[in-house]
Amino acid sequence: MIGIYIHIPFCAAICNYCNFNRGLHDDGLRRRYVDALVTDIRSCASPDITADTIFFGGGTPSLLESAELARIIAACRDSFAVADDAEITIEANPESSTAAALAGFRAAGANRLSFGVQSFKDEELRRLGRLHSSQTARQAVKEARAEGFDNLSLDLMMWLPGQRTEDWLASVDARIEQQPDHASLYLLEIYPNAPLRDEMARAGWSVAPDDDAAEMYLEGLSRLDRAGFEQYEISNVARPSSRRSRHNRKYWQEGQWLGFGCGAHATFNGERWRTVSSTAEYIDRVTAGQDVRLDRRRLGEVERREEALFMGLRLTSGLDLAAMQLRHGIDIWAQYGQDLAPYVTAELLIHEPGRRLALTRNGMLLANDVMAVFIGGTVR
Ligand code: SF4
Repeated sequence: MIGIYIHIPFCAAICNYCNFNRGLHDDGLRRRYVDALVTDIRSCASPDITADTIFFGGGTPSLLESAELARIIAACRDSFAVADDAEITIEANPESSTAAALAGFRAAGANRLSFGVQSFKDEELRRLGRLHSSQTARQAVKEARAEGFDNLSLDLMMWLPGQRTEDWLASVDARIEQQPDHASLYLLEIYPNAPLRDEMARAGWSVAPDDDAAEMYLEGLSRLDRAGFEQYEISNVARPSSRRSRHNRKYWQEGQWLGFGCGAHATFNGERWRTVSSTAEYIDRVTAGQDVRLDRRRLGEVERREEALFMGLRLTSGLDLAAMQLRHGIDIWAQYGQDLAPYVTAELLIHEPGRRLALTRNGMLLANDVMAVFIGGTVR
């Protein structure tokens, strides 16, 4: 079963830290984009391809009208064998998630909502240039439940400018009060030219020291543990396990997915490609019947193996050593054990010989260091 990713590149305002493929929302442009998306999806129709997830990411997919969402989902269902019980996720911003919009999304077929809440502190939301308040977020959760969404994820970002450990933990507690089914916690990464950098310099905001960021992560997860959530990936927890993101597991566990819309990526049948990133170019090319897919290439065995190693290690279940041997013909411990052993000694990594290799929670803080062991190696 593959996943289908659909990119919706429109936002009502541009957040000062954002590095995603997005632009300002415009009604006319959105309508033309949806027409192009539907045409593109239908032109790739292949009823033999089975899919069990559709994920609308952005940008702000909740800016779509429900009829547009329904058209895109219908195009997917007509073009591919989409499972009846497919997980259909829409990323939503609280300010565009009115009761009417949510009812429409539900009727259109979406059954999972991922709210970009980011913080329950209004001051922090203002610093990030977000349009919603903590109250808007609470209201959106309430409306979503009332409209029958029983698979709700709330995203929070930590290590925000001016954020102290207690501020972060207050947001974590507020999130727990909302009783989501799934929660993600991301570290804010401020890219070099982000307008937020200038604002931080002007306002004298700084981010907490590294040690505090580590404490934020560990204590935030402890509170989620105590509230009954189960961590299953570095940045993700769910309650119960049936609410784990089915779509994202395709990225972590060597799955396959098709991507539609500007800037979407795809990995399918051993190949990878991307779609043109400009919204206008995407519309023009689809309308003119031209190909929108670029840089199509076959994935090499080394690349597939390295990616399987570092993506798989993101999961708390870790790497299944026997499965890796079977799929990639590699004895991971024989190959990398010498470099990995110090991490096991430091209790950052768990090695169950012949069975599994997994990061401990402390190890997740240093995941990049551990994963670097896998990059550029040659099989012995
Ligand atoms: S809403 Fe999300 S995608 Fe849009 S500008 Fe803000 S961070 Fe970027």
